Amino acid sequence: MSVITLFNSLGRREEVFKPIKPGQVGIYTCGLTVYDRGHIGNFRSFIFADVLRRMLVATGYTVTQVTNITDVGHLVSDADEGEDKLEKGARREGKTAWQVADEYTQLYLSDMKRVNLLPPTVMPKATDHIAEQIAMIQAMEDKGFTYTISDGVYFDTAKLPGYGRLSGQKTEDKAEGARVGVNEDKKHPSDFALWKFSPADEQRHMEWESPWGKGFPGWHIECSAMAEKYLGLPFDVHTGGVDHIAVHHENEIAQAQAARDTLEANYWLHNEFLLIDGGKMSKSLNNTYSLDDLAAKGISPLAYRYLVLGAHYKSQLNFTWEAAQGAQNAMNKLVDTVRLWDKPTEVDQALVDEFMEHVRNDLDTPGALAVMWKLIGDEKLPSSVKAATLLALDEVLGLALEDVVGRPLKISSEVQAVLDDRERARLAKDFAASDKLRADLAKLGFLVDDTPEGQRLRELR
Ligand code: AMP
Ligand code: ZN
Repeated sequence: MSVITLFNSLGRREEVFKPIKPGQVGIYTCGLTVYDRGHIGNFRSFIFADVLRRMLVATGYTVTQVTNITDVGHLVSDADEGEDKLEKGARREGKTAWQVADEYTQLYLSDMKRVNLLPPTVMPKATDHIAEQIAMIQAMEDKGFTYTISDGVYFDTAKLPGYGRLSGQKTEDKAEGARVGVNEDKKHPSDFALWKFSPADEQRHMEWESPWGKGFPGWHIECSAMAEKYLGLPFDVHTGGVDHIAVHHENEIAQAQAARDTLEANYWLHNEFLLIDGGKMSKSLNNTYSLDDLAAKGISPLAYRYLVLGAHYKSQLNFTWEAAQGAQNAMNKLVDTVRLWDKPTEVDQALVDEFMEHVRNDLDTPGALAVMWKLIGDEKLPSSVKAATLLALDEVLGLALEDVVGRPLKISSEVQAVLDDRERARLAKDFAASDKLRADLAKLGFLVDDTPEGQRLRELR
């Protein structure tokens, strides 16, 4: 098997990747908290995990990818305190937490398809795994790692030697987050909730009986319990964003160690953040863009994927509308070029090898894209070989090029009819109708420009 180097956040800095079972890899990807629409920052994280998986498959491994759906227990402060995000979302929308979870899960699934993520092997929901979470908490309790205070059952981090090794912090250094809802009876600031009791003065939408009282699981326990169920502990690779290192992943590691006396995962890979115009995304700045917000400005989900691939996952990526338009222009050029190629024949293996060397080197996707453009610009290779080779590269890039390579654009009669209606509307100077027809074309995946020569149609891919 070819050598794969992965930059591991835990322990040694750089390692030759070796899975636990020969030929097989288990990946656990921290998925979306479904209290709101997933934003493009979240999708940066999921695209990174998807490329990791595709690289392993292209190398010959059978991959099991578990991507969870967090539908209970994730509290508003990343420092693990405050209100449950799902209950907050329910109040915001005047619905039940169950309805909110269901609605955003559906959007999550369709957004995953739009950026061409391979469907995870399993997508378990936290609320479907309450029994597994309770069992794991019981195992920790039996071994003396827990204590109970007024609002819940907590993990006693002082009992676990080595707590904090992923983020390199010592328990005494761990700053308390925003102090909203911090229970002052916690023995130590880094102690975290395993099971929280339902508040006496308020009816939660989501709550369950447990050996400790009615309530709901803490956020971290879902990932350890579901990873154990679907991958077994330890498993190979855990992915997520860098914001999860200090609290969420540290606590997952602690739970696996305390409950099962094992590592949780052998490799921890964390993507850096997507920034917007050089700063943080936030609701108050109104810049937590979704894929729909991008599409409304003529940036397709696949162009967004291309933008993400253009940066190394360990580097921050600054989203600007100019950069997004640059990615869209690159996609347009790519698609326009490859549609005119001949049907795929044989692969240029040397080029595929060169490309794979980049992705196997800690997912160097910018380097891999450079190899792709070298192929596109090659004037000596027959286009049928270029087509076959590009499709091989796209197994890893995931830009859905199989739909366009060697397939000239055909305008359906439906699209042509809208275009003709719009031409008539323009001649009649009915600009309201012409704008509506432009929006109809956008829904069909086309942008239209008005030029002196008439309407110019452009496919949005
Ligand atoms: P959450 O819904 O908060 O659990 O986040 C889902 C995934 O998205 C996690 O792996 C986060 O680390 C990741 N994530 C959240 N915001 C960003 C961002 N701005 N850039 C990259 N990844 C992010
Ligand atoms: Zn998680």
